[in-house]
This record gives sequence, structure tokens and C-alpha cells, in this order.
Amino acid sequence: MRSRSVLALALGLVLVLTGCGEPGKTPHQAGGPPPAASSPTPAPTPTPTPRPSRTTPPKPKPKLRPLPKTLPAGLHRGSGDRGVALTFDDGPDPRYTPQILDQLRAAHVTATFCLIGKQARRYPELVARIVREGHQLCNHSWRHDLNLGRRPAAEIKADLVRTNQAIRAAVPDAEITWFRQPGGRWTAEEVAVAGKLGLRPLHWSVDPQDWNRPSAKTIIKRVQASTRPGAIVLMHDGGGDRSQTMAACRQLIPDLKRRYGIARLT
Ligand SMILES: [Zn+2]
Repeated sequence: MRSRSVLALALGLVLVLTGCGEPGKTPHQAGGPPPAASSPTPAPTPTPTPRPSRTTPPKPKPKLRPLPKTLPAGLHRGSGDRGVALTFDDGPDPRYTPQILDQLRAAHVTATFCLIGKQARRYPELVARIVREGHQLCNHSWRHDLNLGRRPAAEIKADLVRTNQAIRAAVPDAEITWFRQPGGRWTAEEVAVAGKLGLRPLHWSVDPQDWNRPSAKTIIKRVQASTRPGAIVLMHDGGGDRSQTMAACRQLIPDLKRRYGIARLT
């Protein structure tokens, strides 16, 4: 009963939040290639879709600290350059992360991937490819906990450390520069904990809300309308059906590169 009410609360939060993903959402269908019409060979079994985690650890729930009315100080909200920084959240995902990596490679640009710990543990080969291809890494919490910043400092620390460990299990010397709180629901305490772990707090300046699955055309329009020099653009390569994001990026990545240049976060 208790877990059911926690689930209902979690679902409610996911529905009302903007900015960062539908962690438990399973896509209706995988975006793989259509089966060959004449071939009797069965299509290869797709990599299993990550199972959503809705369970909460069986421990007494401390009171959550309130969210501040405004974002805490110290968040990175600009690329640090004239160019635009691309960030992709909620992966790695076997359907979409390879697609976005292919697009980035074709455009000769790099991005920052905000990885969920559980996903990194499940798909270490994708973490390895992200690093091998020169992208930057961002810790995005173990299980996309929208309330992580409201929890006791020790819990925040344990979550971030566990996520870093999953990333480093895939790439032992991985440089994890950033932390991004799911949903952008930051607290000053969380920024401090991340800082002690050497993680810099990464926010964004452009959010097309692609997690809510608008059309590719809408994603493109939203990004183009609000991007300025030095922007950090938030999009998603995991957490649900991201086919519209993939389609949008085929136009957006070359377009942003031409207009502003694509920057590495500094
Ligand atoms: Zn997210």
C-alpha cells in the first residue's frame, strides 16, 4: 500500500515536471529497422528495453527538504563560449544513443551525455562508445530521482557515488565533469554535495521539452526560437520514445553548427 502511494506520487511528479525525462516510460515500439519482407531469417532480437524501476528502498523516509523558489547559485547555464553546447539526458539507451552518436560523428561535433546510473550499468558498451568518441559525461543520478536534491546530504552523496561507479565500471578512467539534477529540481545542498565530489552542476538554457514527445518540427522550432550564442540545449536520448528527437537532431545539429558553432562545455 505504501509503495503504491509512493508510485502514485512519483507518477504525478513525472507528469507535472518539465525538463527531464520520463524515466519509467517504455516506448510503444522500438525504432528499429522494419523486418525484411522476403527473408525467412527472423530479425535479430532487439536489446531488451530497460525495465523501469519504481521500487523504493525499504527504509524510513526522512522528510524532504523544500525546493527553493528560485534555482540555487552556481549552476552552469551557458556553454562558456559563443558556440552552443548540446546535452542529451536519460541514456544510455540502445535504440537512440547509437543514433545520436552517429549524427554527432557525421557532423564532427561533440556533446555531453547525462547518464542515469542504472542505464550505465546495463549498457556499459554504450558508455564506452560515448567516451571513445570524445563526448563529455554528466552524472544524472542513479534512477532519475526527481527528489534527490531534497534528500539528506548522505543520500545524495551515495546516489552520485553509485552512479559514478557504474560509469567507471564501463570506463575505469572516465572523466565525469558534470552533474545534472533530474527535472532541474536543484537545491543548494545538492549543489554543495556534488561540488565536494568534484561534479559541476549543469543546468540548461534551452528546453524544447522533447521528453513530452512533440513532433520533430516542433522540437526544431522551439530550439531555433530560443537558442542564443552560448546556449546549453537540453534534449533526450533515453527515457522513452525519442524518435522525434532523433529526427529533429538530423536538422538541428548541422543548423546549430552553421549558425553558432557547437561548443564543448567549459
Ligand atoms: Zn532526465
